[in-house]
Amino acid sequence: MTTNLLAAYAEVAGEDVVNHLCQLSAPLKGMQVVHVNSTRIGGGVAEILAKLVPLKRELGIDARWEVITGEADFYKCTKSFHNALQGSPVNLPDASLRLFEETNARNAEKLRPILEEADVVFIHDPQPVPLLKLCPRRKGKWVWRCHIDVSHPYRPVWKYLRGFVTAYDASVFSLAAFSQSLPHPQYLIAPSIDPLSEKNIDLPDEEIRAVCARFDLDPSRPMLLQVSRFDRFKDPLGVIQSYRLAKTFVPVLQLVLAGGGATDDPEGEAVLEEVQAAAGEDPDIHILSLPADAHRTINALQRAADIVVQKSLKEGFGLTVTEGMWKGKPVIGGDTGGIRLQVVDHHTGFLVNTPEGVALRTRYLLHHRDKLEEMGRKARRFVRENFLLTRQLRDNLALMLALTRAHNDQIKLELA
Ligand code: UDP
Repeated sequence: MTTNLLAAYAEVAGEDVVNHLCQLSAPLKGMQVVHVNSTRIGGGVAEILAKLVPLKRELGIDARWEVITGEADFYKCTKSFHNALQGSPVNLPDASLRLFEETNARNAEKLRPILEEADVVFIHDPQPVPLLKLCPRRKGKWVWRCHIDVSHPYRPVWKYLRGFVTAYDASVFSLAAFSQSLPHPQYLIAPSIDPLSEKNIDLPDEEIRAVCARFDLDPSRPMLLQVSRFDRFKDPLGVIQSYRLAKTFVPVLQLVLAGGGATDDPEGEAVLEEVQAAAGEDPDIHILSLPADAHRTINALQRAADIVVQKSLKEGFGLTVTEGMWKGKPVIGGDTGGIRLQVVDHHTGFLVNTPEGVALRTRYLLHHRDKLEEMGRKARRFVRENFLLTRQLRDNLALMLALTRAHNDQIKLELA
């Protein structure tokens, strides 16, 4: 049965895509599925869960989303895990690791009844990874869903976390390059954006103009935009350097760095201060510190921009890339992690390694408007075909079927 919400997705993604979802979910109806992460607000994981969980419910699956909580030192420790998994050497004293495990034990007290009863549990990223060991009477299958670029993790930290991961029934990574040596099946599922969310729906031109006016942006002049948490792996200082180089070719250029914090990211404030210092008094650099629910504002900025930049040094996936592409913008992105999956060099944007690379590609695109628009069109089509929520949900349903009905090696699908 197609509900109103599913019909709305059919309009954007195609009727056949939604039929497919209904068929895949039929054997999973009533199943209890729990997703666990460490923040409800900010960052890509929260962004995805906020959409994926309601849509699973719409398909008759009893899905819920739980969030573990901790004190400031817990998030400091898990942020170090994050940095270490993306390759930074970090020093984690035993006391931090004890706090990490104790915080998980406290959360397990509360969550155990739900988690032990669930048919499938998805644990997102390292923060809640010890929960499995803390639920000895678990009934269902447990999946570790890693959203981080773990292609070259700092070994001592990965060794410690791997000790928890090995007990899972499966892992999911966003890219083949992130897979690890683990004693269970590993699946690849790329993230996605929700085309019907406030962040991605079409906006009237007047709203876009009003957002530009609010932030003193001149819509008649070219604009580069990077939307990101203030995180060093997103290289905001490199973006400022890129803009300064590009401005020597395009003097009227404006730069917008829009970001906010995630509740599980304690480093944002310090990085924001570094960015403000680097921007100095330049009136054409606009650093916007936005509230976590500024989805329509970000949508409008992405639509107002001429080029979207995501100059990350490491990137698990980069939803901001997908979001920019969906708005028909070419993306100049760091040649790393999940950005490589989305930016098809010279087609949907450009992959770069240096500020000079960003500057030269910016000059090219702003001087060849026809190319800029053609790449933008290709970018939107590429997202429609590969990175909409409906595709991620399909992969997710297929994984649940594989895990819970392993004795059935065929899933029967009929053409509508
Ligand atoms: N985002 C936001 N406000 C901000 C910064 C980011 O809403 O101030 C959103 C952004 O639009 C995207 C997500 O947070 O949907 C970030 O996901 P991404 O995969 O790009 O990076 P992550 O933060 O997960 O490393």
